[in-house]
Amino acid sequence: MDENIRDNLATVKNKINSIEEKYGKQNNSVTLLAVSKSKTVEDIVEAYQHGQRHFGENYLQEAQKKIQDLQEYDIVWHFIGPLQSNKTRFTAEKFDWVHSIDRFNIAERLSKQRPQSMLPLSVCIQLNISKENSKSGIDPKEVDHFLSKLYLLPNINVRGFMGISSFAADFSEQRKQFRVLYECFSSAQNSGYDLDTLSMGMSGDFEAAIAEGATMVRIGADIFGIREQ
Ligand SMILES: *Cc1c(COP(=O)(O)O)cnc(C)c1O
Repeated sequence: MDENIRDNLATVKNKINSIEEKYGKQNNSVTLLAVSKSKTVEDIVEAYQHGQRHFGENYLQEAQKKIQDLQEYDIVWHFIGPLQSNKTRFTAEKFDWVHSIDRFNIAERLSKQRPQSMLPLSVCIQLNISKENSKSGIDPKEVDHFLSKLYLLPNINVRGFMGISSFAADFSEQRKQFRVLYECFSSAQNSGYDLDTLSMGMSGDFEAAIAEGATMVRIGADIFGIREQ
């Protein structure tokens, strides 16, 4: 058993609470998504035993084995990595959430492949807020059009937006980038879309994200330690 995971989890939760307080957010309004990519099933169980329920994975092959091994646990699985259109079936059948929707044909496949016996798949539209060409996500200018199309898919439940700030950004630049995401979110809500999730903030920038209105932060390294890859 890895005591670090227990301690790290407690530290991250305390930090989230004090950031919520610092920026006048409601206590416990931010959901913690533990990003377990490249970590073991044992690491996930350790976090689970200390109350963690939402876990995020980036790589399908790796996630397949973990989800299989942990099917007895009431874990909420989030897919947060890039999706290829020929690999949507497993995601549609085994995940509860996908945060990285930036292509309509992928969302369409997920909706078709989502089993009728399950709740619709919760999804976030990934927006490119960093202006780095390497980052996935759609241009914030195209949100309205994309959202209106996605909203019509029957087995997809559009919950909100996801974004990643640029690696080199300092605190004020992180806030600036997250604000773009928040503005898309609040403008879509004002247009009548029923959205409740703003997935933004990782180990290096979750204070800026919460300050700008994140409802879900995706934390890997601060909980499970630095990844080797
Ligand atoms: C890896 C990853 C995270 C977690 O990053 P950390 O820096 O380890 O907290 C969050 N979101 C996405 C999309 C990721 O790929």
